[in-house]
Amino acid sequence: MENLDPKKVLADLTKNANKYCGAVNPICLDDYVACGGYEASSKVVNNEVDVISILKDANLVARKKLNELCADRWIGAETVVCETEDPMAILDLKVQTEAPHVIVEAMIIFMHVNNAKKGVIVVNDELAYNRLDKAVTDAKNAGLNDKDIIVSKVSIDGLKENAQLLANVVAIVQNSYKPAPAKGLKGVAIGGKVKNPGIYEIEDGTTYRKLIEEIAGGATGKVKAIKVGAPYGEYLSSDILDEKINFMSLMMNGMVRGTALIIVLDESTDMAKEISDYLGFLLNVSCGKCFPCKVGTKRMDEMVKEVVKGNATIENYNMIKSIAVNMNIGTLCPIGQKGAVPVLTALENFRDDFIKE
Ligand code: SF4
Repeated sequence: MENLDPKKVLADLTKNANKYCGAVNPICLDDYVACGGYEASSKVVNNEVDVISILKDANLVARKKLNELCADRWIGAETVVCETEDPMAILDLKVQTEAPHVIVEAMIIFMHVNNAKKGVIVVNDELAYNRLDKAVTDAKNAGLNDKDIIVSKVSIDGLKENAQLLANVVAIVQNSYKPAPAKGLKGVAIGGKVKNPGIYEIEDGTTYRKLIEEIAGGATGKVKAIKVGAPYGEYLSSDILDEKINFMSLMMNGMVRGTALIIVLDESTDMAKEISDYLGFLLNVSCGKCFPCKVGTKRMDEMVKEVVKGNATIENYNMIKSIAVNMNIGTLCPIGQKGAVPVLTALENFRDDFIKE
């Protein structure tokens, strides 16, 4: 934590999809417009910019489609859909909840480029649904959106992109998002249960397996989890071992993956104990200014300690998850928002370590 420079972290966050989160009133169209909102979609609709070229130059890829440029998918679709189904949906929920106009603006661009007749934003969360619905209506009434965009709780077929990627499209067209270099060598730090922890330069596209087994000398046991982007990174299962480490994708997600610090955990690791240790760290860095972080971190710490002692019930699991979700969307700064990510991903990917009934 000593090496984490908060100014650098905040600067990184302002470059990408989350730049409007916490910076504008999510239910105020005027606020968003005053900060440059709907300028990007206006340029696109008036054909002042070549979006496909810009997106290709930016090498924009989705979290789950790292080898495919989104520009190569945007070649025409009758219906385009903003929807996500992965464990990191909390990041998408964040931008949908805190900056719904970014998603509406992105949908205008998404529809225009694909010449789509219909745009659907799929979201289950009640707060995000209401804010997005209001944003669609407000933008239409203000003459900023003439597209057929609806918000739905039901999934629909069509060309799908997640909310974070779409928000990045707005930032790229605004020329405010600078992607990390996609090619060449890049420094990465690896630690935890590997024989040769350290900092290595690896080629973009190196797999996690190659990094662990060949470059870092191998794991000390069977790999159970990989934490990508410590300290606030996601706990991923060993299913990702053969995925490529894509630096642009790491950077796209801001601080969560952008630290390029990878921690390997082997099968001897109890994920509840791991999260208990992590929450001890989070308690130390929380300043206590806002309620969901101040009380939420303390309560989660107490409850996860109960899990470690053996009180691993479904009720505990659900309560910890609920507190973490509230922290992620209801806190003032990245420590609370990103701080919930390790908890949520550990609960999602290592459920059996938290429920032993
Ligand atoms: S989220 Fe940030 S501001 Fe709020 S209590 Fe935590 S550290 Fe302080």
